[in-house]
Amino acid sequence: MTNHEAFEYSKKYIPGGVNSPVRAFGNVGSEPFFVDRGEGAYIYDVEGNRYLDFVQSWGPLLFGHCDKHIEDAVIKTAKKGLSFGTSTPLETKLGKMILEHFFYLDKIRFVSSGTEATMSAIRLARGYSKKDKILKFEGCYHGHSDSLLVKAGSGATTFGSSSSAGVPEDIAKNTYLAIYNDIESVKKAISNNDIGTIIIEPIAGNMGLVPADKEFLLELRKICDEKNIVLILDEVMSGYRASKLGSYGVYGIEADIVTFGKVIGGGLNAAAFAAKDEIMSLISPLGPVYQAGTLSGNPVAMAAGIASLENINADKDLYNRLEKLAKKFTQGLKNIANEYGISLQTCVRGSMFGYFFTEKEVKNYTDALTSNTEIFAKFHTGMIKEGVFLAPSQFETGFICSVMSEKDIEFALQKAKKVMSSL
Ligand SMILES: *Cc1c(COP(=O)(O)O)cnc(C)c1O
Repeated sequence: MTNHEAFEYSKKYIPGGVNSPVRAFGNVGSEPFFVDRGEGAYIYDVEGNRYLDFVQSWGPLLFGHCDKHIEDAVIKTAKKGLSFGTSTPLETKLGKMILEHFFYLDKIRFVSSGTEATMSAIRLARGYSKKDKILKFEGCYHGHSDSLLVKAGSGATTFGSSSSAGVPEDIAKNTYLAIYNDIESVKKAISNNDIGTIIIEPIAGNMGLVPADKEFLLELRKICDEKNIVLILDEVMSGYRASKLGSYGVYGIEADIVTFGKVIGGGLNAAAFAAKDEIMSLISPLGPVYQAGTLSGNPVAMAAGIASLENINADKDLYNRLEKLAKKFTQGLKNIANEYGISLQTCVRGSMFGYFFTEKEVKNYTDALTSNTEIFAKFHTGMIKEGVFLAPSQFETGFICSVMSEKDIEFALQKAKKVMSSL
């Protein structure tokens, strides 16, 4: 079967041929390849083509494909039964490991996806603040629950409108929008409205990679303290990616609720939200905020998460090494772009990297949108042909994994030079 045939066949049964829209490669105007298997830093498609993988399942695979320790843990656990709907010690173990890293949080609850984690965190925050109105930032993505699929409203309103059909405007109107890295926009939104919760990606990875300025985050924390607003830091991507302690390791700023996902499941379906006891004690069965899940804390997913965190704990130099590789790649890209007169902005935070085809320094979503997505699409398609898999959208983040080498980066740069020379 060719990639094209696999895609056509899939379209007969699955809408658009994919189970998550970005996988359709619509943003880059090409067709997706279909994967057969992964190995270390590489994946192989159904035609046997090999790609250096900078997507890494959109973040979860900090240790690349088929890491031995994670694989062994998964197989061993799976052989004891896949799911029980009853507690196992693995949940406690992974919870303890995460809370030992994020030491300022008291309790954690596991769910199956980042979407569930942020959705539950919002409900918990509303239950605690007793206020319906929440504030999010333009360009930040927190999964696809109704309250969070909201974009900036018309100029006449300060509240948002739904960014997807099927989200009732009655729900969207409780979500307010502010501009990333712009504290005045936050002050304006909360001065006119009784907002109880603010949710933010402290290191935004879903409009491309756009980290918050430290001053901005400090100010945001201060405002939340003064106004009794619950601050949710969504670390589903940045947790265990930007640093071992996610954004905490970069900024040292404490959240009221933190959401996790991606790396903590090691490639399987695990995510979580965590908070101090004062807030977490409101969650069912202790308190009145309902939250549940048939597969929550699934033992195989917990085993994969535990093995990932064991790998992290065992490698003291891990994030330094990953950051060095990420910087080698982005610096190399920038040099090549310069050579060919192409404007490029680059950014690295730990194992995460971003690059925008624009002259403008990118501080928020409006800046990100100045990128030349046509050049991006051509660059992406060229790189795929040369065996390098970068995220198929200008507004996504790239990921380094632990088994990538300097040689792999040099390979990618050599291909980038070839592709950019023809743009
Ligand atoms: C990926 C992501 C989510 C959603 O997680 P899913 O597991 O895809 O539901 C939420 N927030 C952030 C910051 C993410 O990067």
